[in-house]
Amino acid sequence: MIVWGVSLKNIGRKNIHGNCPLCNSRDLYLVVMQKVLHIFWIPTLPTRKSKFVQCNQCGSQLPAEPFLMSMPTNETGIKTPWWNFLGLFIIIGLFIFGYFSEKSASLDKVAFQNAPTVGVYFTYDLETPSLKKTPYTCAKVEKVDGDKVTARISKYAYSKEKEARKAARDSMNNLQSPFGDETYEISRENFKALKVVSVLR
Ligand SMILES: [Zn+2]
Repeated sequence: MIVWGVSLKNIGRKNIHGNCPLCNSRDLYLVVMQKVLHIFWIPTLPTRKSKFVQCNQCGSQLPAEPFLMSMPTNETGIKTPWWNFLGLFIIIGLFIFGYFSEKSASLDKVAFQNAPTVGVYFTYDLETPSLKKTPYTCAKVEKVDGDKVTARISKYAYSKEKEARKAARDSMNNLQSPFGDETYEISRENFKALKVVSVLR
């Protein structure tokens, strides 16, 4: 569940020339407010700015436009602060992180299939039409000998890769083993052709 909302934030104030129409004080300042979309209480996307003039003497809030018209430029000079984009920076950062970790995971798979290491657990897609509903399983490299790779393969097939990974983790942690006594020997070429999904380290 994503918690989000819009809040109005004060992003700056500064003194402004003019007289208060109510008390004639010259102690006036301009206040700039901005609506910000926040996600999980983190300001993420700033939207429209609004402004008003406040009198420091009588506390009146006045429309800013008449005061701004007498200024050399119609600009308030108060800019959106960077932290109103904080959530956006975090989201972009997470995407970049996700992209690079995905990339390094796939490089890891290629390296593993080219040079399997004894004792390493992995999951793969069985790619068997009769096992369409439970396409995943896990295995452990037992021996690498010349052109042959010997692996122990789970007795079970799983509907989700996550389940196959959990079974492998349980075996790694000596909790419960999905493996039988039998081992299987395949050629390195066939091992390279396996549709490995994850390599557990
Ligand atoms: Zn006033």
